[in-house]
Amino acid sequence: MKNSSIKESLPTKDSYNRHIDYLRISITDKCNLQCVYCVSSKGLKYFRNSEIMTDEEIVRFVRAAHKHGLRKVRITGGEPLLRKSIVNLISSIKEIGISDLSLTTNGIMLAGLAEALKKAGLDRVNISLDTMNPERYKEITKKGDINRVWEAIKEAERVGLSPVKINMVPIRGLNDDEILSFASLTFEKDYHIRFIEFMPVSSDGMWRREKCVSSKEIIEMISGLGALESFSFRGEGPSRNYRIKGAVGIIGIISPISDHFCSSCNRLRLTSNGKIRPCLFSNVEVDIKTPMRNSADDEEIERLFLYAISIKPERHKLDENIAVADHIKNMSKIGG
Ligand code: SAM
Repeated sequence: MKNSSIKESLPTKDSYNRHIDYLRISITDKCNLQCVYCVSSKGLKYFRNSEIMTDEEIVRFVRAAHKHGLRKVRITGGEPLLRKSIVNLISSIKEIGISDLSLTTNGIMLAGLAEALKKAGLDRVNISLDTMNPERYKEITKKGDINRVWEAIKEAERVGLSPVKINMVPIRGLNDDEILSFASLTFEKDYHIRFIEFMPVSSDGMWRREKCVSSKEIIEMISGLGALESFSFRGEGPSRNYRIKGAVGIIGIISPISDHFCSSCNRLRLTSNGKIRPCLFSNVEVDIKTPMRNSADDEEIERLFLYAISIKPERHKLDENIAVADHIKNMSKIGG
């Protein structure tokens, strides 16, 4: 890639002295699965094609943000691999000089695309997998074939989209009996298994606090497998990381509910319809698509990026009032 010669600017600080250098971009609100805890089955309404950011608009925004210190981009959705131009989009974003470019996918379409994505400049992938049981996988995703996800994981490893990270959302009574099986995978494979606390978004009213398996419980469970070594990776985001004695892989625990990480949050989100969202759990958004379509110049786009950083809230208030998440109708629209 040509990006090695491109100089990175220093990240911009927000009002709470956090360096904002990470953008998560939802490139589609459509998904080829319908996970019970993620999308609402009732009245699922997608954006019209004309409402979705074009490749050119996304790349233009990333370029503007890169001038102000953006260095890390994650592509998500919906299912990002549904976007036909995904390989070109990855290549255009990498060429701007984004040093850490990753993608979150359910893996269903990844096996056939992994090599092209790697060549285009994708650094690594997170693959969502909430169960290892094929029947249960069908129940959770409504239509998925788990074999395609295992193929995707193998192919991602083969082409070097590494470390391969597996996202698992443990939900009490649904799949929490598999926490130890997932953690045990790290004895054989150098995967990063990431347990993400169940968050109150959409999901047909399925969320209840008691269904959320806390990070504390997860740590207690996995410590039964062996002594836990705890460590952090520089710049690796909100997960608390552990290695079980004798394991080759790593376990990350992400606890937006029981132990929020707002004080070190370095991210903004760009929704598939062109709104910058400074915090997942706040409905405050900054529209960039409309100005772009009304001929805003590059300085104006940069100003909007900096404005979004300046209004990033100090923290979310989920622990005080869970109803604040009511406005998050669909994770796939905002970008999970
Ligand atoms: N389609 C892609 C996928 O399945 O990975 C990307 C979009 S999906 C919304 C991104 C991540 O959000 C997935 O790992 C998923 O498990 C997670 N997610 C969705 N709903 C969630 C919820 N209610 N709580 C916690 N994580 C959730």
